[in-house]
Amino acid sequence: MSFTPLGLSEPILKAIADKGYSTPSPIQEQAIPAIIKGYDVMAAAQTGTGKTAGFTLPILERLSQGQHAKAHHARVLILTPTRELAAQIGESVTNYGKHLPLRSTVVYGGVKINPQISKLRKGVDILVATPGRLLDLHQQNAVTFSQLEVLVLDEADRMLDMGFIHDIRKIIATLPKKRQNLMFSATFSNDIRKLARGLVNNPVEISVSPRNTTAENVTQWICPVDKKQKSALLCHLINENKWRQVLVFTRTKHGANKLTRQLEAHNIKAAAIHGNKSQAARTKALAEFKDLSTHVLVATDIAARGLDIDQLPHVINFDLPNVPEDYVHRIGRTGRAGSNGHAISLVSADEFKQLSDIERLIKQTLTRKLIDDFEPIHDVPESNLNQRPTQAKKAKRSHPGNREGQRDTGNTAHPKRRNTKHYRSRRAP
Ligand code: AMP
Repeated sequence: MSFTPLGLSEPILKAIADKGYSTPSPIQEQAIPAIIKGYDVMAAAQTGTGKTAGFTLPILERLSQGQHAKAHHARVLILTPTRELAAQIGESVTNYGKHLPLRSTVVYGGVKINPQISKLRKGVDILVATPGRLLDLHQQNAVTFSQLEVLVLDEADRMLDMGFIHDIRKIIATLPKKRQNLMFSATFSNDIRKLARGLVNNPVEISVSPRNTTAENVTQWICPVDKKQKSALLCHLINENKWRQVLVFTRTKHGANKLTRQLEAHNIKAAAIHGNKSQAARTKALAEFKDLSTHVLVATDIAARGLDIDQLPHVINFDLPNVPEDYVHRIGRTGRAGSNGHAISLVSADEFKQLSDIERLIKQTLTRKLIDDFEPIHDVPESNLNQRPTQAKKAKRSHPGNREGQRDTGNTAHPKRRNTKHYRSRRAP
């Protein structure tokens, strides 16, 4: 199927052709006609499904008719959780709308507010924003919404995770009641459904990938390894396989900085991206990663959310996430829009619980590969997918200073679940 029957006009079809897209992705096929017709939409779609074009293209179509924005007004508001995602959506709007006489801008925190106020002065057809900065701008009367036609909440689940619910509610209270609402979320938890109930009216519901499944074109495997050996193993894998573009996830900002230093010490070009980095540093790190002058980007979950890097070949979980759904989000960075990807997790014995929770969520036991010279002393037990979720053990008091989550060795394995023979038999050739 081509884009032509979806109801998009010539200037937009031309921009799509300029991008080299020939076939709409499943979410685009469903969302574009519904949004052009003016329906509210609730879509379960992860990054990588083409969802950004799925809402941007029909919005541009709607905006190409009707009155331009008046001074200080916006006709469409797209709310996103992170600055990076806002910048990427802004880029898509510019690309897809390049043959249309529409104005758009992106606003987010961490940078000067005055240039953003100036841009809003003339009014914009499309405003992409993170919630906190938008509220600041609204309080300063830099923007007003009486002309607003469409509201988009992108990555709504992550916005709730990041605690934006009050900001979102405050923003919604400033909008006209009559408007089109589009809500995108990777998952539809009860909290998301609660938010949706007060937001969307009789929505067209779209789901392009079943909840919490991982993409089929992503090869996933885990490397059992002792915690202390993880950074050496990562350097080994990068050098041995000559990987040139690797996104690595760590659980903490401190862990991201430390790992970046360790990689640099092994002459591997790396940069960290997390919430403590300035916007300029984050933008620079991402640009250098995209043009391959940096080979490894070490990121925390929040910073990496929504990063759009075309055909990212390798994602490494240096630490497993505490929230199993984050595993699905993380590996969604690779194998995008039909390309193949690899997602590899370095798993130490103390991460057995996280591993079991992930395997239970994705309903599969991940293939294990042992790497020569990095075989762990502390085994990572096999998870039993039919077992109930593992309970966290109470912390023992006997080791002062050995705080929860900071153990250096992985001795927390349940002795009954140790199955060394079994996993050694899966040793990689
Ligand atoms: P998204 O899910 O919006 O983050 O998009 C994921 C990636 O797919 C982006 O790099 C888009 O440029 C790309 N993309 C979106 N729609 C299409 C399409 N119809 N054909 C090929 N690539 C696409």
